[in-house]
Amino acid sequence: MKIAVIGTGYVGLVSGVCFAEIGNQVVCVDNDPSKVEMLHNGEIPIYEPGLQELANKNATTGKLLFTTDVGEAVRNSELIIIAVGTPSMPNGEANLSYIEQVAREVGSVMDGYKIVVTKSTVPVGTNYKVKEWISELTDHPFDIVSIPEFLREGTAVKDTLFPDRVIIGIDNPRVIEPLLALHQSLTENIIITDIRSSEMIKYASNAFLATKISFINEIANICEKVGADVTKVAEGMGYDKRIGHSFLQAGIGYGGSCFPKDTEALIQIAGNVDYEFKLLKSVVEVNKDQRFNVIHKLEDALGTLNGRTIGIWGLAFKPNTDDVRDAPAIDIINTLVTKGAYVQAYDPIAMDNFRNVLNVPEIKWSKSAMEAAEGCDAICLLTEWAEFAEIELIDLASVMKQPVMIDGRNVYGSKEIENSPFVYYSVGRPNLNTIDDDKRVVSILH
Ligand code: NAD
Repeated sequence: MKIAVIGTGYVGLVSGVCFAEIGNQVVCVDNDPSKVEMLHNGEIPIYEPGLQELANKNATTGKLLFTTDVGEAVRNSELIIIAVGTPSMPNGEANLSYIEQVAREVGSVMDGYKIVVTKSTVPVGTNYKVKEWISELTDHPFDIVSIPEFLREGTAVKDTLFPDRVIIGIDNPRVIEPLLALHQSLTENIIITDIRSSEMIKYASNAFLATKISFINEIANICEKVGADVTKVAEGMGYDKRIGHSFLQAGIGYGGSCFPKDTEALIQIAGNVDYEFKLLKSVVEVNKDQRFNVIHKLEDALGTLNGRTIGIWGLAFKPNTDDVRDAPAIDIINTLVTKGAYVQAYDPIAMDNFRNVLNVPEIKWSKSAMEAAEGCDAICLLTEWAEFAEIELIDLASVMKQPVMIDGRNVYGSKEIENSPFVYYSVGRPNLNTIDDDKRVVSILH
C-alpha cells in the first residue's frame, strides 16, 4: 500500500518505519525542516531503541521517504495517516489545532479517493470534525478512519510490529478490506468498531492504566505508615488473574506525553457532556502529589534543603526514552531549586531535552551517575535506567558527602541496602538503616 504519514514524531516516525518494514511504500511528512533534513542524512531525531537500524534499512531500499511537502505526499498515497501532537490546553482539553491544520492541508491537495486515518489521540467526535475540515476543501471522495496508537516509548518498534491489538473505527465498510490487509500480519486481535468507540477505547485504556498506577501509589503511601512492603503487596495482588502484575510498580507517579494529558482530556470530554469523572479526577490529583514525596523524604532525612547538594539520577519520564514531557524530574528539580538546593543531574539519554525545558544556574549537568553523586548530601533516583542498578553502593557512598538515597523507583533490594552504609528511603517499603536514631547519619548532620 502507498502510505503518507503526516507528523514524524514518536508515533509517526515509528509507524512509518514499521509500515515500510512490512512491505509498504511510505512517505513520512513533517513541517519541521530540520527534522526532515536529519532523516535525509540517516539521523533519527528521537531516541527509540531499534529505530535507527530499521529506518536506515528501509530508506536505503527506497521504501521509506521523507519530505516537508504534504501535497506531493498526499497525491502519491492511497492512505493518509495523521500523527501530529494533541497537547493539553491550559483547561486540560486536547489542542486540536495541529490536527485541523493537517486535515485542511490534506483537503486542499486531494486529487482522488483517499482513506484518511487519525492515529493521534483525539477526543470523541474529532474524526467527524476531520471529515468536515477536509470536505470544506475538496469534492474528491474520501473515508475517515480512527486507528488510535498504543505504542509505548522505549519499546515502540516492538509494540508497533507486535501490537496487543489494533482498533479500527470506521463509518464506511468499504475501508475494512484494505485496512485488514494492512494490519493482518501484525496481530490477530483486530477490532473493527465505530469511530466514537474507537476514539474512546484509547482514552479509556490510558485512564485505566493511570488509575492502576495511582492506586498502587496510594497503597504504597499507606504501606509506609503501617510498616508493610508494597512490592510484596503488589506481587501478591498480581497473581490474581483478574488483576495482573503490570502497572503495579509503586513509584513517584506517571509522567510523559500521554497519561497526564489523556487523563485531563478525558475529564474534559466527560465534563463537556455534564458528567463529572470523580474517579479520574482523584487519579490525577494522587499522581500530582506523588512526585513531591521525594521532597518530603529528603526533608525528613536532611532537615532543611537550603544549601544542600542533591544528586538526581534520571530526567526522562521513564527509562529507554529521551522524552522529558511532564517528567516528575521537572517538578522535583524546580522545587529543590526553590528551596535553595543545588542540583547535580544526570541522565544517560535525556540531558539535552531536559536542558531545553529547565536550565537554571543551580543545576550542574553531570557526565556520569558517579559524577552526579560527588559531594552530594543525598542522591535521588527518579528514572530506573538499568545502569543505576549496577552501581556498587560502597563506591557510591565513597564519593558522596553522606550516604543518603531517595529511591523513587524501588530499584535496590533490601539486602543490598542493609549491607551498605546508606540511609535509604524508597516507595511503600520500610525505610532502611534509619531505625536507630543515634546512628542516623543525617540526624547528626541536621
Ligand atoms: P510528537 O510531538 O513527537 O510528534 C508530532 C510531530 O508532528 C512533530 O514532529 C511535529 O513537527 C509534527 N507536526 C506538527 N504539525 C504538523 C503539520 N502541520 N504538518 C506536518 N507535521 C506536523 O508527538 P507524538 O508523541 O508522536 O504524539 C502524536 C500523537 O500520538 C499524540 O496525539 C499522542 O497523544 C499520540 N500518542 C503518542 C504516544 C507516545 O508514546 N508518544 C503513544 C500513543 C499515542
